[in-house]
Amino acid sequence: MSARIYLKVSREKSLLRKHPWVFSRAINKIKGNPQLGDTVDIYDSKDNWLARGAYSPESQICIRVWTFDENEEINEAFFLKKLSSAQARRDWFIEKGGLTGYRLIAGESDSLPGITIDKYDNFLVCQLLSAGADFHRYTLVSALKKLYPDCHIYERSDVDVRKKEGLLPVTGWLTEPQDSTECVIEEYGVKIKVNIVTGHKTGFYLDQRESRVAAGKYAEGKSVLNCFSYTGTFALHCALKGAKEVINVDVSQSALDIAKENVELNHLGDNVKFVKADVFKLLREYREEKRTFDMIILDPPKFVESKAQLTGACRGYKDINMLAMQLLKPGGTLLTFSCSGLMEAGLFQKIVADAALDARRNAYIVDRLHQAPDHPVSSNYPEGYYLKGLVCQVE
Ligand code: SAH
Repeated sequence: MSARIYLKVSREKSLLRKHPWVFSRAINKIKGNPQLGDTVDIYDSKDNWLARGAYSPESQICIRVWTFDENEEINEAFFLKKLSSAQARRDWFIEKGGLTGYRLIAGESDSLPGITIDKYDNFLVCQLLSAGADFHRYTLVSALKKLYPDCHIYERSDVDVRKKEGLLPVTGWLTEPQDSTECVIEEYGVKIKVNIVTGHKTGFYLDQRESRVAAGKYAEGKSVLNCFSYTGTFALHCALKGAKEVINVDVSQSALDIAKENVELNHLGDNVKFVKADVFKLLREYREEKRTFDMIILDPPKFVESKAQLTGACRGYKDINMLAMQLLKPGGTLLTFSCSGLMEAGLFQKIVADAALDARRNAYIVDRLHQAPDHPVSSNYPEGYYLKGLVCQVE
């Protein structure tokens, strides 16, 4: 029988709203001796069953809920059901967009806490971030093999957050090892090379798919500076929509090397350029040189990992946004993003407003961009909303 966890008086409220986390401070007593990742039953202080989840004693989030249905066991049938419904939720836009790369499971937002699964052509890349996800890895893989028999499955659990759960980083094949770890995915007619082993995260940033299309919409005839370009995919959409020139900037040479290959794959010309530089420094250099652009894209990495870093992150965001606005020609377009979940949309907009004041420019928000639909936000888990973008016309 699984261990029973009893909550303190009136600490069941979030579970009744189907939020999937139980914090250690909400726990009153534990009956049994649950180990890392074990499935436990959660009860309120009056002995009413509430949910079933994975136990993680070292984490502040002590339990992540698998199910709110008392009759549901956590076994292969459970994972088959969750994976199939996540796939079904995505079919409409995958088929419409001819997409061969998409996020199949976005953790808590797809009711599988701690599990990320990205599909790149016939590779499935899993990131197991929590004790429960790690515990059920073979059951999960077995379910994936049934649903995607032609796919090769690779694990990219090389992330720091595992430490909080008392887990070590893990990478490697979960099915038969393959010689090649590269593939080409299609995103609304654009071809993108992905390396699932050496690429960032699980290989690529699928969450910006819709924003890249939006960037293309604004790019015709423009000179574009694509900051934090990674493998240059914003630039591909811009160039294909007739941008005059696009400069990709990134600190990573290996990312820029793939960006060059992506330009060739899409038969684009030498109006797509590459600069290996620190964006913070390069924007200052361009300002000194009085260089200007019609459009600038700022898609920095996550600046905020914890609340303690928020103030520093605000400074970082304000700095690059101010510099970018100073480099824009009058009437130029700024696409600016924050992928930090802890940076709320309102605060991000305020930072961009402050940056405009400091740059002595007027910014008009003409569009708002968000994470792609394969990164949904469950209404019970608002924390799933993390990627915000503003399109500003800057005078
Ligand atoms: N826009 C990309 C994703 C960007 S991810 C896309 O659509 O795919 C963030 C990128 O910023 C990474 O490639 C990382 O190498 C780069 N980076 C991080 N800090 C940087 C800095 N200070 N200057 C330039 N690039 C940086």
